[in-house]
Amino acid sequence: MSPLDGSPTAGQTARPLCVSLVGAGPGDPDLLTVKALKRLRQAEVVLTDDLVDTRVLACLPASARVLRVGKRGGCVSTEQRFIHELMIREARSGARVVRLKGGDPFVFGRGGEEVAALREAGIAVEVINGLSAGLAAPASVGVPVTDRRCTPGVAFVTGHNGDHGVAPDWAALARSRLTLVVYMGLTRAAVIAQSLRDGGLAAETPAVIVSAAHTPRQRECFTTLADLPAAIGREGLPSPALLVIGEVVALSPQWRSDVGLDGSISAMGAMGAMGARVPSIALSETAALGDAIEDSRVAARFQAA
Ligand code: SAH
Repeated sequence: MSPLDGSPTAGQTARPLCVSLVGAGPGDPDLLTVKALKRLRQAEVVLTDDLVDTRVLACLPASARVLRVGKRGGCVSTEQRFIHELMIREARSGARVVRLKGGDPFVFGRGGEEVAALREAGIAVEVINGLSAGLAAPASVGVPVTDRRCTPGVAFVTGHNGDHGVAPDWAALARSRLTLVVYMGLTRAAVIAQSLRDGGLAAETPAVIVSAAHTPRQRECFTTLADLPAAIGREGLPSPALLVIGEVVALSPQWRSDVGLDGSISAMGAMGAMGARVPSIALSETAALGDAIEDSRVAARFQAA
């Protein structure tokens, strides 16, 4: 192990007390890191969240004791304290303890609080990253979250920050031109969409909702910011789901057909004339293919990308 803090103290011959905080990724066990898989295979006690896919749990040895400590929907502090106490107790018993979390432990996973509690108890911690849903879900539907032709970057934000969290500044985000990846935003989608529109983000900004990414239950719905809350209701998309909002969404090969837009140049011209926004990638790609587009601004944009 390569714990974040502490090596065996003087005179200590046994393994140091240590908990591995392991990211389980979004679902598909093929997306586990090699290091995560190693730790799962060595685990004696596993404290797992609800979000962790059963196929990932199937990688554990049959002898491992699995404690389910999920708390979907609520983030009550006493429950979190209970998880801390349990981890500390199991680690002190000398067991190889894995704390398993969906996605990445440090991305809306309360990993920071758990590291602090363990270190305070004198227990070493190693953190093994997992593939966060915020990266995996958009990619699974063909959305490149930081494509520089559309955006200067990406913001991972929470749509539900519990009782004690810091609420996102939606107006600032609306102005930022960043791709917005909203975790835990399903039930508050209407408020979020309205706040972004109030902040100046255009109603027709492309958006996609991705539910249960990288699981057999995955579903997605491409839409626009204005239609986002209605789309969730209409499609009945269940939790866990991410909202991805920004021009990059229109780069997905699926976007144009799903929102009822035709991919042809003439249709794009007509849409432009009607005031609809045309995804810049479609024009750029066409220019790259040497098609007869005489718009020098498009060519310049492509070269800059
Ligand atoms: N640590 C996790 C996030 C935990 S917060 C990670 O890095 O992915 C829980 C939220 O993550 C859910 O409400 C949902 O918004 C998102 N989420 C987690 N797994 C998901 C999945 N497979 N598909 C879509 N969204 C997911």
